Amino acid sequence: MHDKKVTQGLLVVLSSPSGAGKTSLATSIVSEHEEIVFSVSATTRPPRIGEIEGREYYFVKTVDFKAMIQNGDFIEYAEVFGNFYGSPKKDIQELIECGKDVIFDVDWQGGAQIRNSSFASSVVSIFILPPSIRALEERLLSRAQDDKSIMDIRMLEARSEISHWAEYDYVLINDNFSRVKGSIVKIIETEKMRRQRQLTLPNFIADLNDEFDVIKNKI
Ligand code: 5GP
Repeated sequence: MHDKKVTQGLLVVLSSPSGAGKTSLATSIVSEHEEIVFSVSATTRPPRIGEIEGREYYFVKTVDFKAMIQNGDFIEYAEVFGNFYGSPKKDIQELIECGKDVIFDVDWQGGAQIRNSSFASSVVSIFILPPSIRALEERLLSRAQDDKSIMDIRMLEARSEISHWAEYDYVLINDNFSRVKGSIVKIIETEKMRRQRQLTLPNFIADLNDEFDVIKNKI
């Protein structure tokens, strides 16, 4: 009998202004759901304390990043806060064919490129809003991983990032970490049930019809 559970994975684009909690949400979801994986980006920004090569990012030199652009290695890339960030194309096709959902923690420019990529039909985009600008500022301050001038730029950039909220399929306000996390997982589960994403559904329907035929022949 045909396996009813086989569905193609999704490319889940998660965007928000810096400090709205999207990286913590993505990390927590990936640690609890083995079918959901994180797309590790390459970046030219220096590592923060505690960040590990290949886990948060691949930290590369600008010259190497530019070579990767020339090679067509990225599904998307953008300059954010003066540094380059890009999502490697490698492995995406294979992962989604195995039913894995891939989370992309990218800014609005990356989100737009992924939506317009050859993977468009498998993309679901989610924008995370902070509950208030004060909360966003406090989060950036408490993180205190960037120096003051970078933090000031990030507050200015937050307004421009938020202006892209209406380009996303779903918009969630991060006023309760576990609830928002649950909502993201629910969105992924529901989107995978869309008829056109259940690639093996025609076979399953054929199996049901075979069963009908067998039963009909018995009566
Ligand atoms: P951070 O330096 O705080 O880790 O990330 C800064 C911004 O860059 C965040 O908005 C983050 O979502 C975005 N970003 C991280 N990786 C990528 C990527 O691969 N592509 C794009 N376009 N943006 C990224």
